[in-house]
Order: sequence, then C-alpha cells, then structure tokens
Amino acid sequence: MTIYYTQNVDFYKGNSTEQLLKEFGSPLYIYSEEIFRKRCREMVGLVDYPHYKVTYSIKTNSNLTLLKIAREEGLHADAMSPGEIFVLEKAGFKPHEIFYISNNVSEEEMKYAIDKGIDTSVDSLSQLDMYGRLNPGGKVAIRINPGVGAGHHAKVITAGDKTKFGINTECIGKVKEILKKYGLTLKGINQHIGSLFMDGSKYVESAKNTLNVAKQFDDLEFVDFGGGFGIPYRKQEGQPRLEIAEFGKNFGEMLREWAKEYKKDILFRSEPGRYISAESCILLGTVHAVKENHGTFFVGTDLGFNVLSRPIMYDSHHEIEQYRDGKIITAGETVTANVVGNICESGDIMAKDRVLFIPKEKDLIAVMDAGAYGYSMASNYNNRLRPAEVLINTDGSVQLIRRRDTLEDLIRNFPDLA
Ligand SMILES: *Cc1c(COP(=O)(O)O)cnc(C)c1O
Repeated sequence: MTIYYTQNVDFYKGNSTEQLLKEFGSPLYIYSEEIFRKRCREMVGLVDYPHYKVTYSIKTNSNLTLLKIAREEGLHADAMSPGEIFVLEKAGFKPHEIFYISNNVSEEEMKYAIDKGIDTSVDSLSQLDMYGRLNPGGKVAIRINPGVGAGHHAKVITAGDKTKFGINTECIGKVKEILKKYGLTLKGINQHIGSLFMDGSKYVESAKNTLNVAKQFDDLEFVDFGGGFGIPYRKQEGQPRLEIAEFGKNFGEMLREWAKEYKKDILFRSEPGRYISAESCILLGTVHAVKENHGTFFVGTDLGFNVLSRPIMYDSHHEIEQYRDGKIITAGETVTANVVGNICESGDIMAKDRVLFIPKEKDLIAVMDAGAYGYSMASNYNNRLRPAEVLINTDGSVQLIRRRDTLEDLIRNFPDLA
C-alpha cells in the first residue's frame, strides 16, 4: 500500500494546490510550520543532559522566516560563510548564538566573524595559524577529523581518509604548538562526519573518537558532534524513521558519563540541518508536456534542476505525488516514466523510472522532502526564475516568505544596465 505523505500529515491544511500555484506561480516551494517546529522540538529534546544545544545548520535552508521560527524554538545556528552570518543576524540571532564553521576561508572572511565575537572553528593547521595571526590571545575551536565518515553519497561524506575536512587526530601536538605560539585558548572541538545516516552507530563511534581528543585539553567549553541525521526519503513504501528516541537515550548516557569525568558543565552540541528542514517542504510544479521517445515515457514539467538539484547532484530519490483537478491521484492505469524539467540538458531528470498514474498536461507534480538543500541550492541557470516560497501556518493560513524572482532580478548586477 502506497503511503501518500501530504494526505497522511494533512500537509496542505485544506489549501488548494491549484489555488496556491495560481496565486504564487509554478513551481512553488511550500512549507509547513507545524512540521518544521515539530522537527526542531525533536532535536531540542534529543538528549537528557542539561548542557546540550542544537545548532541548526542553515546551509540546508536559510529562509528568514524559517530561521526566526528555529530561533523561537530555542535553536542556535551554525554558519559556513559571512553571508550566512549576515542572514542569521537579520533573523535575530545574536553573536553568541552563532557558530562559524570555516573551511578554507580568506583572512577577510575569518575577520568578519572574529570582529563580531562569533565562535569560530578552523579545520586545518594553516587556518589555525591564520586565526592566531588575526586574533592572538583569542579563543578558537578546531574541527577534528574523527576518522569515521558517513553519508548517502561520496560527495557528502566529510570525515575519514578521503575528505578535505578537519584536522587529523595525529596532528594534536602541532595544534598545541600553534595555540601556544599565539597564546590562543582552545574553546571547543567539533566534528561533522557527513550527511544522512539512518542508523546512529557511526555518529556515536565518531563522537567517542572526538571525545578522546577532547580529553587531551583541559578547559574546553564545548564539544560539537555535527549533523547528518537522516530522514526517510522513501516514505511511500513506509521506510522507517531514524529511531531518534532510542538514539538520544544511548547518546545522552554516553555524554553524561564522559562529562562526569571531565568537567561538570561542558556543553555538547549537535548540528542538524536536513533533519530540521527537509520534511517540512513540498515542491509543487506543473506538467506541460507528455511524450514517448523510443520507448521511454517523459513527463515534461517546470521542475528543472535549477529548482531542485539534489537528483542531478547526488542521484537522490524524492517521492512524487500527482494531482489532477484539485485532487490527489491514488488509483488508475500506470506507466513507467521519467519526470523531467525544462532545462537544456539531458541530465535534467527529477525522478527516474517511476511508476506513475498516466500523466496528462496540466496535472500537478509534488516532490516530497524538498526543504533541505532545495531552495538553498537553486539557481538561475538557463535564466530561469527561482520560485517563490510560502509557509502554511499551523492555523492553515498561507504566508509568502520569499517572493519569486523577477526578470529584472536577472539583470540587476550588470553595471552597464544601471
Ligand atoms: C552540512 C553540515 C551540517 C548539516 O548536515 P545535515 O546532514 O544537513 O544534518 C552540520 N555541520 C556541518 C559542519 C556541515 O557542513
């Protein structure tokens, strides 16, 4: 039996998908306040240890309205760039609520965070040295490569022996030398092993390695274990969720034990991104053409990889729902088809070899779990306009939270048109 997510969670709260596209244009990113808040709360309540903080990794989705909600829910945030710091401040985050996890940044970029008093982590000896030059006597964090990676695709495994990230644990002696050279204090240690695990064992294993490194420093204020918490992308067939309660219990016990031996009030942090935002969003588009080409059935839509690039970047699977005349289609004759976009590349495939109810022009196509690495990776490739984003509030009302690009936006940065 196929599970239809939007029906199952009452995603649209009575709003008509056709009406939403009429009002805000197609394609459209549609978010659920209820689901976004629910995921924030699950993460905030993950472990039973008093000094535990969740920092939302905003590269997954940095819509200003969603950031404000995350802050209301008590989350802090991590930033990968000055741009993310800038947006976080606009959303109301204070410097002490932001953690800058830098990677190969310029002196200007590092200084941007230092001048604001934002905790900064560096992830190589050369960048630690740069930090020391820029802020002698300061407090800094380092990103450790705990030797264990995890993730859904080689491109997103960010620890282990094949990654550009982190300082290897064998280099701790050198770290200490650089700290001494500039009178720096090591304030925190962080890691991030990769993105999308459905079983917490690697996370715990890597956390243990990082805690072993942490032991070698006397007065750390925090240890941060990174993100990567997965979500079930294959929900139509009932893929189980990450067992968050069970995981949180075991993880929490481990942290409490470790803290007892170290220092009572050390802060532990996690940095979920995808887990917070992915499931709160449906990407809705329109079928403009159907055709058969040498035995392959194509559903031609406005959902190009400029709108959602995860499938072309990572061969990611997103489930599809089909709507016709304002209703979800759940029965009928089927065909195996590729759902494709309107971008001039053959790789522009949103969903490959899917069994679909025979589609027609003007049908709507909904792509599940589009809230993480969706809009944040959208582009104007082919000079297409990035879609609007709307939020369905808990009471069912709809709010525009980012307007659609205009044609004028496409030429905004050309000096000779100013
Ligand atoms: C991307 C990233 C995260 C979030 O990863 P998710 O898989 O989305 O949870 C957390 N920390 C760091 C350092 C990252 O680069």
